[in-house]
Amino acid sequence: MPDPILTMIPGPTPVDERILAALARPTVSHLAPAFVESFGACLANLREIAISEIAQPFVVAGSGTLAMEMALVNLVASDEALLVVSQGYFGDRWGELADAFGIRCDRLQAEWGQTISPQQLQQRLDAGSYAAVAMTHVDTSTGAAAPVADYCEMLRDRSQMALLDGVCATAGMEERFDDWGLDALITGAQKAFGTPPGLAILLASPRALAKRESRATVPAYSADLMRWLPVMRDPTRYFSTPPVNELLALHRSTQMVLEEGIAPRFERHARIAAAVRGGLEVLGLELFTDADCRADTLSVVRYPDGVDDAAFRTSMAGRGVIVAAALGSIAGEAFRIGHMGNIGVDEVCRTLDAIEASLVDQGLERPAGRAAKAAREIMSRGDRSQI
Ligand SMILES: *Cc1c(COP(=O)(O)O)cnc(C)c1O
Repeated sequence: MPDPILTMIPGPTPVDERILAALARPTVSHLAPAFVESFGACLANLREIAISEIAQPFVVAGSGTLAMEMALVNLVASDEALLVVSQGYFGDRWGELADAFGIRCDRLQAEWGQTISPQQLQQRLDAGSYAAVAMTHVDTSTGAAAPVADYCEMLRDRSQMALLDGVCATAGMEERFDDWGLDALITGAQKAFGTPPGLAILLASPRALAKRESRATVPAYSADLMRWLPVMRDPTRYFSTPPVNELLALHRSTQMVLEEGIAPRFERHARIAAAVRGGLEVLGLELFTDADCRADTLSVVRYPDGVDDAAFRTSMAGRGVIVAAALGSIAGEAFRIGHMGNIGVDEVCRTLDAIEASLVDQGLERPAGRAAKAAREIMSRGDRSQI
C-alpha cells in the first residue's frame, strides 16, 4: 500500500521502498564482511556521484550541519579567516559555525531570492586574506542556486579552500568536485538522495586532508577527520560504531542514483522543476526566487493575497500532501515545495492537485485539474525515463 502521506518538503524527501527495505534489514556487526563491503561501495559511489577521482568521502552519523561543522573545524584554524558567501538561512549558518569556533568571518550576503555574483566574490577575494570560502549551492530558505561553477573559477589557482554546502543539491544537481577544484563538499542523506535523515556526508580533497594533517590539533574529537580517515579508507577498522542500517540505506540510494545515471538524474530534476513551475503558473502563483537563479530541487512560492499560511498548509496536509513553511523574513508570505530525490510525475501532479484544491478552500477560484495537466505535458516532452 502506498504511503498516504506525500512529504514534499525540502528534506526529508519521500523514501523509496527499495531504500526502506535496505534500512529494515537485520542489523549486523559493523565488521560483518557484507556490511564492510556495502560501506566501501557506498563511499566509492559517493565519489562517482560527485564526479571525482580524488575526493575522500566521509560518512558519519549526524546531519548536514555536522558535516558543515566537520569541514570548518578541520580545515580552518581560529587564527585564520573565513569568507562566507550567503544567499540565505543556510549560508548564514556557515557564519554562525565560524563564530562558534572563534574563526574570523567576513560575509558576502545576497538579498533573499538572489545570489552573490562571481564578480562580487572576486572583489572580496582581492581585498581580503582568507583561508577558505564557504558557499551554499542551493539555499533551502530562498530556493536560490548560486553560480558555484563560476565562484570556483574565481577561486582557481588561489590559496583559499573552496567549501561547498551541497545539502539541498547533491544527487539532484550537477556538482563537479574535481573540475571545480572543490576542497570540501558537504551533504546529507535526506534531501536529493531520498534516504532517511541521520547521516553527515563530506568529501574532502587531498589539499584539504593535507591541511588537516598539518595541524597538530583541532577543536574536535569525534568530528576530527583524522580519527575517521582510517575507517573510510578501510571500513574493517573501528573508531566509533557506524550507523549500520542507515549506511545500508544510503548505499542502496547511491546505487539507484548510478543506475539512473547522474546526467539523466539531473535532467529529471530539471524537468520536474519545470513541471512544478508550469503547474504553479497555471494556478496563478508566483515564485519568490529570481528567475535567473532558481534551483531544480525546490520552489519557494508566494501566497496570493488573502491566503493564510497555516490554513493553507493544514488544508494541504488534510489532502495528504505536506509542504513546508517559509523561513526567516518571508515566513507567512510563502511556502516551500521540495521536489528532489526519488519522485516523478505522479508526486508532482498530486502536489499540484492538492495546491489547487487548497486554494479553492481559501476562497480562490481555480479550474480543476489544469495545473496537473500542464505538468504532465512538460514531463512528457523529450525522451527521458521517469522513476
Ligand atoms: C537542510 C540543509 C542543511 C542542514 O542539514 P541538516 O541535516 O538539517 O543539519 C544545510 N544546508 C542546506 C543547504 C540544507 O538544505
